[in-house]
Amino acid sequence: MRLYEREAIAAAASGRNSGVLQHPLDETLTDIHERTLTLYEGLGHGFAYPPEPSGVLVLGDDPEPLRREHDDLAARFPEVAPRWLEGAELRAAEPGLGEDLYAYRLETGRPVPPASATRAWAERARAAGAQLRIGVAVESVAIEGGRATGVRTPQGLDPAGAVALAAGPWTARLARKVPDTFLAPTWGVNVEVRLPEPPRHVLEQGGIDAFIAAGGGASSLFSIVTADGVSAVGSTFLPDEPDPRVAAPLLLERGARFLPALGKLEAFAARACPRPASFDSRPLLGPHRDVEGLYVISGHGAWGISLAPGSAELVAGAILGDGTEIPPELAASRA
Ligand SMILES: Cc1cc2nc3c(=O)[nH]c(=O)nc-3n(C[C@H](O)[C@H](O)[C@H](O)COP(=O)(O)OP(=O)(O)OC[C@H]3O[C@@H](n4cnc5c(N)ncnc54)[C@H](O)[C@@H]3O)c2cc1C
Repeated sequence: MRLYEREAIAAAASGRNSGVLQHPLDETLTDIHERTLTLYEGLGHGFAYPPEPSGVLVLGDDPEPLRREHDDLAARFPEVAPRWLEGAELRAAEPGLGEDLYAYRLETGRPVPPASATRAWAERARAAGAQLRIGVAVESVAIEGGRATGVRTPQGLDPAGAVALAAGPWTARLARKVPDTFLAPTWGVNVEVRLPEPPRHVLEQGGIDAFIAAGGGASSLFSIVTADGVSAVGSTFLPDEPDPRVAAPLLLERGARFLPALGKLEAFAARACPRPASFDSRPLLGPHRDVEGLYVISGHGAWGISLAPGSAELVAGAILGDGTEIPPELAASRA
């Protein structure tokens, strides 16, 4: 097995995300997420799996739409035990919140440092005998008679029995697919801060699922995830690359409505990165529609850290022909 990475391990979104392992709240993805958590639990190689979720508080200042979200999730996902919180109960659960907010709590959300999982997977692959070709860009997939026969790099043609594309938003070009109808970048800006008393929960502004599914009517929603004392404040969902220095103060200003401590910061760092967002917000997995021996593992959008290990296991099974079935709703060939 060979892995080609043109820059560095965790160079893109897999090293610059918010870092929360979170239930995707989509029935089609629940099994992959649960399998992903089991894989993280056994990962090792320097990865510290949080044994318990810290909980996600979904926040809003208008109780009605938030209550509807809560009721919907309570009916569909009892495993995350949605619980309504307001007033003194909410303040006790999360003392640093702003005034007049409402929330529901979900029993999910394990914060991990953003690049830690990706680095550990790379180490594990190396230990298992994979060759990691770091700094080598794949220029194209070699195709003969409708079958993938290897990859072309600046050093020449490397033959292979099968090729799996997991190149984030750049997968569309390698798969010879039109980006908008396959997958396209959705740029996220995160601001890294250190708070004297970071929130106990992962905090998120209500409406994120509808927002992601709709492709984003607005351009950003508040979130904050804390791992190892560093909090990532997010985030934008933009089709074009933003300037993180411009976006960061806006994200902090909006965040201060939910967590007033964000309005009193003296130092912060910001970064921007593209999510690989598929045309229907679900991963694109398994055999390519037109090319035999070519496979895709991409399109994880906002939830790649929470899903991709389970997705990769499915696609590896399909490549090895062990009888693994890719759910049709997730098949790369649907695009
Ligand atoms: C701001 C932000 C916050 C996020 N927060 C979370 C979160 O809290 N939880 C969660 O689950 N998900 C989160 N995500 C989503 C998650 O980070 C992504 O879904 C996931 O990292 C995508 O992984 P990937 O491996 O598909 O793509 P990438 O991480 O983009 O990796 C693709 C890699 O391919 C390499 N590459 C590209 N082209 C080539 C080529 N031709 N040859 C060789 N190498 C190539 C790139 O250098 C890159 O390293 C967040 C994303 C962003 C941007």
